[in-house]
Amino acid sequence: MTRILLIYTGGTIGMVSDPVTGALKPLDFRELEAEIPAIKSLGVEIEYHEGFPPIDSSDVTPAEWTRLAETIRDNYERFDGFVVLHGTDTMAYTASALSFMLENLAKPVVFTGSQIPLGVLRSDGRENLVTAVEIAAACNEAGRPMAPEVSIYFQDRLFRAVRATKWSAEQLDAFASENYPPLAEVGVTIHYNLAAIRRPENLGSAHRPDKKNTPQNPEPLKISTSLCTDVALIRLFPGMTQKALEAMLAIDGLKGVVLQTYGAGNTPTAEWFFAALEGAISKGITIVNITQCPSGGVAAIYESGVRLAGTGVVSGRDMTPEAALAKLMYVLGRDLPSSDTVSELARPIRGEFSD
Ligand code: ASP
Repeated sequence: MTRILLIYTGGTIGMVSDPVTGALKPLDFRELEAEIPAIKSLGVEIEYHEGFPPIDSSDVTPAEWTRLAETIRDNYERFDGFVVLHGTDTMAYTASALSFMLENLAKPVVFTGSQIPLGVLRSDGRENLVTAVEIAAACNEAGRPMAPEVSIYFQDRLFRAVRATKWSAEQLDAFASENYPPLAEVGVTIHYNLAAIRRPENLGSAHRPDKKNTPQNPEPLKISTSLCTDVALIRLFPGMTQKALEAMLAIDGLKGVVLQTYGAGNTPTAEWFFAALEGAISKGITIVNITQCPSGGVAAIYESGVRLAGTGVVSGRDMTPEAALAKLMYVLGRDLPSSDTVSELARPIRGEFSD
């Protein structure tokens, strides 16, 4: 029987109401089958991992990402897939970070959550959880997993984690992936978009992209937990002062910045603006440029975009802010020579931007 490890980290999905007080409290996932009897009919063996004290995902830090990566590594051989239940607020950050931290991943790691607690009658959590388990367990005729990547399943769609973002605080289809098609769409049946799914056998190993894996002889899973947290996300706004920008770039120990520019990668044209960025780059700070727009990416089209590219700012193309930050933390954490840092950032390593 296919074996799935279910890891509950917290968030709305795990909440049920106390029969006595009516207050919401975390569900004991060892009793999942009592809460969702239908889950048995999937014919999947689900083991619950106890080990994450449930938190609201706004409290998540790289320490939890590391524990998650270690949990998946330690259980990798025993399970066919992993379902991570996580609060929706920072799910795209955690799932993006795990995408980079889990090197040579060849099994599904499906994140899901809900907008309404499991214990509430109209909860979206039941369907999200059941289908996430079904997707994590699904194999093709050759017995290989259908979606062997880190993904987010939410409201009928499976997204590549490094392409997804939480876009609604209110609607049940809370996630979107504007720049990449869903990996699967769920209706009466689950339709997998095979052309969009990364398969390990078509890829190189994490650090040897020239060397292809084979299903018979996959590269072993490795985790990278040395993330650099000396990073910042700077979103431009009209009226941002020289003082504000320089103060942010002068943060003690700062090593990397994700700069959210306007539209197709445009910025103010003032000399002080470029001087501040050039000054930071000359001090060894890596700057990645992404757009503030939820859809599309940066390209050196207008004058300021061309000038920006000339300063040594790296184009983040059409990456989400979550993926850009996670990738910067991961790449800087590897402590590579600066030219290698730039070349790692400039190539897609988990399908995080369009070629
Ligand atoms: N604040 C919650 C969290 O992210 C919201 C949710 O789970 O949807 O943990």
